[in-house]
Amino acid sequence: MRIGFGYDAHRLADGLPLVLGGVLLPWHRGLEAHSDGDVLLHALMDALLGAACLGDIGVHFPDTDQVYHGCSSITLLSVVKEELHRAGYAVHNIDCTLVAQLPKIQPFIHAMRDRISSTLGIGEDQVSVKATTTEGMGFTGREEGIACYAVCTLCARDEACS
Ligand code: MG
Repeated sequence: MRIGFGYDAHRLADGLPLVLGGVLLPWHRGLEAHSDGDVLLHALMDALLGAACLGDIGVHFPDTDQVYHGCSSITLLSVVKEELHRAGYAVHNIDCTLVAQLPKIQPFIHAMRDRISSTLGIGEDQVSVKATTTEGMGFTGREEGIACYAVCTLCARDEACS
């Protein structure tokens, strides 16, 4: 069993789409980034790659490469899944915590878990997504940005781990 941890944060800006966990949220502001700015999937991919000692998303998907400009992070997550499989690992479970003052995340959590679990080919009961505010404190509290923490466990593909 191997444990991975990831963190990401992006700045909120007016008029951009807000995509979290592969789900488009109805909100008047979105996250600035080279890709779609999906902080949840970025933190998750760093956790998955970290658990397998395969570097981070900056190594695999450099923001200097135009190929990844505006790229869907769900597409990148499926690439990470293939990398893990090649390295002999399967995802055992995932736990993500979004840190956002607004919008309210709760109504979209089921859709996010569904999107992530189907992309990774695992059960929804292996994917946890939670959200918290910081009660107005810090950059997330001032609605300047959204952050996410993610942890995961991997196991060897040839062992029954789920
Ligand atoms: Mg990022």
